[in-house]
Amino acid sequence: MNTTKTDRIDVLRIRDDFPILKREIAPGIPLVYLDSTATSQKPLAVIRAMNEYYERNNANIHRGVHTLAEEATAQYEAAREKIARFIGARKSREVIFVRNTTEAINLVAFSWGRKFLQRGDRILLTEMEHHSNLVPWQMLAQEKELFLDFIPVTNEGLLDLSEIEQFLEQKPKIVAITHMSNVLGTINPIRQITRLAHAAGALVLVDGAQSVPHLPVNVQDLDVDFLAFSAHKMLGPTGIGALYGKEELLEAMPPFLGGGDMIKKVYLRSFSPNDLPHKFEAGTPAIAEAIGFGAAVDYLSRVGMERVAAHEYELIGYALEALSEIEGVKVYGPSAEQKGGVASFTMRGVHPHDVSQILDSEGIAVRAGHHCAMPLHEKFGLPATTRASFYLYNTREEVDQLVRGLAKVKKIFG
Ligand code: PLP
Repeated sequence: MNTTKTDRIDVLRIRDDFPILKREIAPGIPLVYLDSTATSQKPLAVIRAMNEYYERNNANIHRGVHTLAEEATAQYEAAREKIARFIGARKSREVIFVRNTTEAINLVAFSWGRKFLQRGDRILLTEMEHHSNLVPWQMLAQEKELFLDFIPVTNEGLLDLSEIEQFLEQKPKIVAITHMSNVLGTINPIRQITRLAHAAGALVLVDGAQSVPHLPVNVQDLDVDFLAFSAHKMLGPTGIGALYGKEELLEAMPPFLGGGDMIKKVYLRSFSPNDLPHKFEAGTPAIAEAIGFGAAVDYLSRVGMERVAAHEYELIGYALEALSEIEGVKVYGPSAEQKGGVASFTMRGVHPHDVSQILDSEGIAVRAGHHCAMPLHEKFGLPATTRASFYLYNTREEVDQLVRGLAKVKKIFG
């Protein structure tokens, strides 16, 4: 790609890098992929990096002295360094490879939480969390008899921060919060929240599953204690994600899973844990996937995250305006200024599953359901919504196709 950071994204050129975007869903019906919030598509650079690893370098890492083992280890660790740089971590040992965002949050809940939380302690969450930033805390709360509090969401889909000081006066030990809602698209003011939370003595875990793929995210600027994200939502493969944690916190935490690689010494009745980051990476990891993750981060860095965010800002503004003109369609969440490229909506009198089925017949891939955020849907009195989401490879023409598809839905349902 031959672009500079100041110009706009050349979407057509970018689309050329994604073989799947040339697919037809039926003869003459090209794919319009508007489901990147669930998982993104993958560029050739990622697919090739993984293929090349299997074709040339495949070996288990950290244990061998033969050439392939050394190459595989070097590539795996190089990927960790790229990811650390991408999020502005001080050191690559602050980046732990995990399977996904879900596993990253479980790691913190069950390693940090089991060691440092006591009966009666409080955890502060929000009403807009994905199930993966709710259920692990619920499980821990049940196990250790903790209290969960929730920052409410306003009707506009923003966090109601007017009450945050009251919640913080109750001295929660951790605030676990999404950076960007996967339903409303809301971008939360993480820097403001970390400042307040730290002043009250709480740590902050940020669910970056939607922010790291779509916005410039720097863990030092935001001063987050933990950040969880998944490769598959940011052009990388499934099966790999990352947990960033401040070094001193990770050092103080016990291992999460036990087995090979996470140890220094093992005796029949005891073991000594390995150094960071290996202490948290038990067993053979997803090596090809880590290398693919590194290639994805290279790709996004070449495009520039400011430009990715600017492109999506323009698309969501265009989409919100177009959707607001369709009678009976209601989009949830704040205006384009406060959100990322996610439009969850309902259409009066039509079930979201029917909407997405008819759109699929036009080649348009959107998602229908509660998007793993049942409490948030309940708050808005909705069993489900239809969600269209955008990424760097989407175009205004695709938004127009969505609008035409919705006109067809209306026609069918009268
Ligand atoms: N958090 C948010 C905000 C998400 O959107 C998602 C996935 O949709 C997750 C967490 C969970 O990600 P994963 O399934 O990759 O663990």
